[in-house]
Amino acid sequence: MPELPEVETVKSGLAPVMEGFVFKHVQLNRPNLRFPFDPDFVARVQGMTLTRLSRRAKFLQAELSSGDRLFMHLGMSGRFTISQSETATDIGAFAHDVGANPKHDHVVFEMSSGYRVIYNAPRRFGFMELVADGAPYRLDDLGPEPLGNDFNAPALRATLKSRKSKIKAALLDQHVVAGLGNIYVCEALYRAKLSPFREAGSISIRDANRLVSAVKDVLSDAIKAGGSSLRDFHGASGELGYFQHTFAVYGREDMPCTRPRCSGWVRRTAQNGRSTFACDRCQG
Ligand SMILES: [Zn+2]
Repeated sequence: MPELPEVETVKSGLAPVMEGFVFKHVQLNRPNLRFPFDPDFVARVQGMTLTRLSRRAKFLQAELSSGDRLFMHLGMSGRFTISQSETATDIGAFAHDVGANPKHDHVVFEMSSGYRVIYNAPRRFGFMELVADGAPYRLDDLGPEPLGNDFNAPALRATLKSRKSKIKAALLDQHVVAGLGNIYVCEALYRAKLSPFREAGSISIRDANRLVSAVKDVLSDAIKAGGSSLRDFHGASGELGYFQHTFAVYGREDMPCTRPRCSGWVRRTAQNGRSTFACDRCQG
């Protein structure tokens, strides 16, 4: 499942060949992904300029010259492939699932940059949705972007005040902060030395400061790793794959804590149906 840093990396890979360019030709190879395509999808996108490409939570948002917004989601295994003549660059492929099968090429954008951008999604959990200028969208009431200035300690503390849920569940609530998944919540709580089982409303301003910094740091580090994976790519092989992550606690069940001078162990607990990884000593 692509997390926020992967989506940010995909955005960085797509922007140079899409932003500021015209959709010269749009081809849909099926009527639906997770949701049906807009019946006028091709007519509404073809011929438009993509004026701005950005990321909101785990969505890519393409602003079109018509005022429409095109939202694109990778789902579980979606990817974009950029190709020009004989070379192809995969962005958004998983390490265990490299090599796009062309039968899953669902959307093909020919851009005026001279590049072809192909959306490939074997499991079709992803989707593309067009939203008319000014129309509401499901992302409108999400919380602040974790890397934006609106996600800060006083605001987070105010949002969490009087919440009885655990801090981990609160951070996964997309109305508290947008786009954080299980992995990065575990990593951020570890980095902030906070127990995932703390009541969200009990977080002090000092805790909130540590937590906000930790969230921004774990995401920024992962985005940096993704950026270097884009730079390291040398075209010819056609494979990029998702970058390899290193996690401090996630997936490290029953391994010693890696924090210097901590003699604790990483434990896995089921919390709201998902695995929580935390050190049993330094996350007080
Ligand atoms: Zn520890």
